[in-house]
Amino acid sequence: MKIGDILITPEQIETRVKALAAEISRDYQTVEQPLIFVGMLKGAFIFMADLVRHITVPTQMDFLILSSYGDATKSSGVVRMLYDLQVDIVNRDVILVEDIVDTGLTLHYISRELELRSPKTLKICSLLSKDECRKIDIEPDYVGFSVPDRFVVGYGLDYAQQYRNLPYIGVLEED
Ligand code: 5GP
Repeated sequence: MKIGDILITPEQIETRVKALAAEISRDYQTVEQPLIFVGMLKGAFIFMADLVRHITVPTQMDFLILSSYGDATKSSGVVRMLYDLQVDIVNRDVILVEDIVDTGLTLHYISRELELRSPKTLKICSLLSKDECRKIDIEPDYVGFSVPDRFVVGYGLDYAQQYRNLPYIGVLEED
């Protein structure tokens, strides 16, 4: 495997992440209790770390781990919770932070799961979206970039646990 096209540069990511943080901070200006950011590990860890540093309203953070694709590059559609939240989200404003929405199956599963816990509000912020790949009609409230239907890595996203450290988003290609 090797990295082919670079779709999004570090500078583009930085600019967009700051803009998303400004938009979210504006939307939650009047929150009564700290806004809870829920990061989906492992893919969203870098995005979440950069995003929250530009948020200007009070925040709390927690993380979730769902089962991944394994080493495959296509969704199995089967999702399980491997590590659950430690905070109680009842009657709280929550933003779920995702790395990428592809078919929408993962997002559908996790947003239904979190809604059952009666948050005051639940919104979704995803760094990337493959708009043309949805199998379920679900859209994040905040999206960094739309990307084509290609397997991308970098800035937290992996292939077989590699490439997460790349500072850009690139397309993975066969050698
Ligand atoms: P969905 O359930 O929407 O099909 O897939 C969501 C999850 O699949 C993401 O959180 C991510 O872990 C993984 N995924 C989907 N497309 C890609 C991709 O292009 N690259 C990487 N690294 N992971 C992806």
